[in-house]
Amino acid sequence: MLSILDIFRIGIGPSSSHTVGPMRISNRFWRRLKSRGHLSETARIEIIYRGSLAFTGVGHGTLRAGQLGLLGFKPETLDSDAAEAALKFLETDKSLVRDQYKISFDPKTDSIFDYEQAPDLHPNEMEMRAYNKVGKCIYSRIYYSTGGGFTASHQQLSKPAPNDTVSVGGKTVPYSFGSAETLLKLCAQENITIADLILANEAVRRPQKTTLSRLDKVVFVMLAGIERGLHTRGVLPGGLKVARRAPDIWATLQGAPGANEREILFDWLNVYAMAVNEENAAGGQVVTAPTNGAAGILPAIIRHYCCDDQAVPDFAKTRVFLATAGGIALLYKQRASISGAEMGCQGEVGVACSMAAGGLAAVWGATPEQVASAAEIGMEHNLGLTCDPVGGLVQIPCIERNAIGAVKAANAARLALHGTGAGKVSLDQVIETMRQTGLDMSTKYKETSQGGLAVNVIGC
Ligand code: SF4
Repeated sequence: MLSILDIFRIGIGPSSSHTVGPMRISNRFWRRLKSRGHLSETARIEIIYRGSLAFTGVGHGTLRAGQLGLLGFKPETLDSDAAEAALKFLETDKSLVRDQYKISFDPKTDSIFDYEQAPDLHPNEMEMRAYNKVGKCIYSRIYYSTGGGFTASHQQLSKPAPNDTVSVGGKTVPYSFGSAETLLKLCAQENITIADLILANEAVRRPQKTTLSRLDKVVFVMLAGIERGLHTRGVLPGGLKVARRAPDIWATLQGAPGANEREILFDWLNVYAMAVNEENAAGGQVVTAPTNGAAGILPAIIRHYCCDDQAVPDFAKTRVFLATAGGIALLYKQRASISGAEMGCQGEVGVACSMAAGGLAAVWGATPEQVASAAEIGMEHNLGLTCDPVGGLVQIPCIERNAIGAVKAANAARLALHGTGAGKVSLDQVIETMRQTGLDMSTKYKETSQGGLAVNVIGC
């Protein structure tokens, strides 16, 4: 059973699968070489990116991320200035200096995009190779970046651990569930909310106080991302010349001659979501929720519905919101995927919308059935959503898509609260439909930038 803290990872933009995952993978490979005693005979390291990592790797900053991982940087603690200095040194010296070893790595020739060989088990494949001084490959390993910053080795993906909804690190969770149906049955049986159930499962891993303080930290990082995005002007990196829009919308809202318009709600949710996603596109710090590309939806809902006018969070609300949304994300992760390269954008923005809708319904006092209904509605109207980022960057359509997703999430929660939770379509059914739709979707629309807006908007 995964932890909700695996869903909410603090990291850097622009992509959890193409930035956070590759950084963690190359770091993991280095540690593996070290634990197996290979570092002393390693003269050169090579990274080969395949599938979606190759097709949209440039725009998503994948090469930099892979190099930073080899240099020992971690997404959660990355210091941007130190990272820039380390990359500059790598570019000139063409070597990795770490753990008292100096190993050759030329960023230009040892980072390879392989467009020919199709990935084996997942569309985001990375092969890491270590060579000795006579050019013989002494150790290699294949890994996958499976979305939301999650990673897996070839071995882990080919033989998934059995019974993985029952235990955490060898300890049995009190409430094992692998479907929304079981989750709701357990809530009814114990007369508890989804958030209570999730937090009880988390307590197997660590003291409750620690879980809550980590969830509070997630909130702080989300809100800080909004603040930076609201006040940073300029053009986003990557060559598309996309201007940041959140500061201007924010300034208009502050003057707000039209503050009494009914549609003002859209503006608030839009500006918060866009602020986060503009920060993400600029490589700033965000929280995967469940991915970087979809990182703006949950913070927008938190800022608008769980904070006061000064943006001070009400932790009683944010904890319920994140625990519930995290529990919903676990269902998508267990039963389908949260990877844009596997599911298209329905697996990123669609899942974030579903999580936010369920979480917000819980904050508004919905029953577990109504929460599941909100999550179902949040996904049902994102089914089939493709991933076709222009220029391979996480900007168009991603930034606006988060704004739309946040508004849609609030609407889904409202709709669910008008019902009893007994809809015609269950949350399990919509998750399975998303999975099947993702499998049927052409690769062109799954984070390869080979179809849709990515080919029709090449001139911008
Ligand atoms: S279109 Fe959606 S899935 Fe694709 S990169 Fe943008 S946010 Fe991620």
